[in-house]
Amino acid sequence: MSSICDSCHAGCCRTYRLVITIFDFLDLVTAVGMEKAVQGTCFEAMPFNENYLVNNHGIHPFVFDDEDKKGSMYSLSLKRDESTLFPNTLKCTFLSEEKKAEPNINADLPEHDKHPGSTTDARCSVYENRPIMCRTYPIGFNSQIFSSQLRRREDLPLAAQHDAYKICPKSQLELSDFALNTPAALMKKNNDLMLNDMRNQAHNQSVLKWNSQPERLTAKIIPFILSVGNNLIGAHKPNKPPIIETATPRLDSAATALKAKSTASKV
Ligand code: SF4
Ligand code: SF4
Repeated sequence: MSSICDSCHAGCCRTYRLVITIFDFLDLVTAVGMEKAVQGTCFEAMPFNENYLVNNHGIHPFVFDDEDKKGSMYSLSLKRDESTLFPNTLKCTFLSEEKKAEPNINADLPEHDKHPGSTTDARCSVYENRPIMCRTYPIGFNSQIFSSQLRRREDLPLAAQHDAYKICPKSQLELSDFALNTPAALMKKNNDLMLNDMRNQAHNQSVLKWNSQPERLTAKIIPFILSVGNNLIGAHKPNKPPIIETATPRLDSAATALKAKSTASKV
């Protein structure tokens, strides 16, 4: 059954910060191996927030004691790199993109001819093992009231800067847009949502454990993540643990930097 995503250029994989859990990282290791999983992820700096040391909301960031990492917290995230189809914009590093030979306009979508999804093919290269947030978007699960909801999504201000940052080619979304109009499809999606919630909580418990130990050094984070995975599945044991970079810039500052670079190269 077709989905509105087939008529899109994967705007969500370009627009948002892509924070993942320890378990999503382990899924990536399964999908592409340790080296590529490490290359495709990073720790994005965010302001220090003590709430993350005590509560269980959101996806918790890590604290590191390395001299150059003190004073911030770090979210385990998918890396973003520059799009080749939309220069000066960012996309998830695992997103493959191609220009369509001919525009393919979905007549059921209003103004689809103005949406980049009509001219762009985009594909997740780790689709079977993609992070759970990618499986569930744009549906959210509220464990307090045990309910899931399709959230109407608005373009972020970034979309005004570049078409690449437009999201779904329809503002008023319905379950049928995502082929979720059968009981079986809905049940599968609800299972993903509940699994997502459980994994977020398990991630948060693990990060609380990391953050409350001495010597929280980046050199020790991969063995720590693997030990969390090994307690569940007894797998990944590399000889020499690699180090995840802390390089990916924030989207807004990166877009500005890329724009500046492009302007400079024209001078
Ligand atoms: S992992 Fe796949 S689905 Fe998730 S943001 Fe990247 S390209 Fe998109
Ligand atoms: S932005 Fe919306 S339509 Fe496009 S790929 Fe993401 S969820 Fe699907």
